[in-house]
Amino acid sequence: NRTEKEWMIKAHSLSAKLFHHVLLERAEAEPARKYLENRGIRLETIKEFQIGYAPASWDFLTSFLQKRNFPLELLEQAGLITQGKTSNYYDRFRDRIMFPILDSQSQVVAFGGRLLGEGVPKYLNSPESLIFRKSRLLYNFQRSRTTIRNEQTTVLFEGYVDVISAWQAGVTNTIATMGTSLSEEQTRLIRRNSEKVILCYDGDQAGIDAITRAADLLEKQGCIIKIAALPDGLDPDDYIRKFGSEAFQKKVNHESKSFVAFRIEALRRGRNLLDDGERMRYIGEALAVISKLTTAVERDHYLRQLAEEFSLSLDALKQEQYRLYRAEK
Ligand code: ATP
Ligand code: MN
Ligand code: MN
Ligand code: MN
Repeated sequence: NRTEKEWMIKAHSLSAKLFHHVLLERAEAEPARKYLENRGIRLETIKEFQIGYAPASWDFLTSFLQKRNFPLELLEQAGLITQGKTSNYYDRFRDRIMFPILDSQSQVVAFGGRLLGEGVPKYLNSPESLIFRKSRLLYNFQRSRTTIRNEQTTVLFEGYVDVISAWQAGVTNTIATMGTSLSEEQTRLIRRNSEKVILCYDGDQAGIDAITRAADLLEKQGCIIKIAALPDGLDPDDYIRKFGSEAFQKKVNHESKSFVAFRIEALRRGRNLLDDGERMRYIGEALAVISKLTTAVERDHYLRQLAEEFSLSLDALKQEQYRLYRAEK
């Protein structure tokens, strides 16, 4: 006699197997196989991550699970099927690439489903349920945990495909949030397993904003933050495809910068530093960031950098910074 949770977990594990089988074996999944091939996702990777395909059908999964006596209301609560207005049930995920999401016991508890082409929503994720609390789980954590612990370093991404692409590139201490911003619970989970966190978010404004938020939260947990900043418009997967595995490994392991350096750099975006007024504003804002640093050694380091770059007197910068520093207290 299964409990509700057990039914839900069983349904997810069967669904994951079924979608995976469909992707690998069925004729109707040919476009999905082509799609993954075009994205450079290899067969061994598809197997490792148990990637699947949900066919373009309204009742493929519904009837499969119904035949196996799963109560439909329960499948609906678990987010696998949806109830229409006329009260018949239909598959939630249709014509999508399926990424299974595992819980801490390595059981499938949810899916992320991607359209093969353009369209809205690009990703459809399982809703929260008895077995899936988005804010407590991190994509790929089960697979990467041992490496993360051993290396005491976590690489954090925004997307599923970034994790998968990095895994193919030999970077395996990685996790991703699932379409939501990083929660406090997730930061605690990360901190319990590693001290250092490398944030590798998309190289767009949304990514920059998300980095600032995530870094603040992780710093509160006592993590050491590094930022692997990507060129404008590229996400980690794009970067790997464009520049290759080695360049990516280097970017993450040897070229990541401190959160402060990142913030100072972010202030430059969209600014013409050859313009006197804009340059002064930039310097003022950079000083404000520097004045928030806790150690004098760090403050000195960034002040020198600023002085050097703009041929300013270090004394003048120090005085100005000290004024801001006192105002902070
Ligand atoms: P791809 O490379 O397949 O286009 P991506 O991971 O680069 O996907 P982003 O737009 O950068 O896609 O989004 C990052 C993550 O946010 C996704 O992996 C997914 O978890 C989530 N996400 C994106 N779009 C949506 C959406 N429309 N609804 C819910 N979650 C979404
Ligand atoms: Mn993005
Ligand atoms: Mn992206
Ligand atoms: Mn992408």
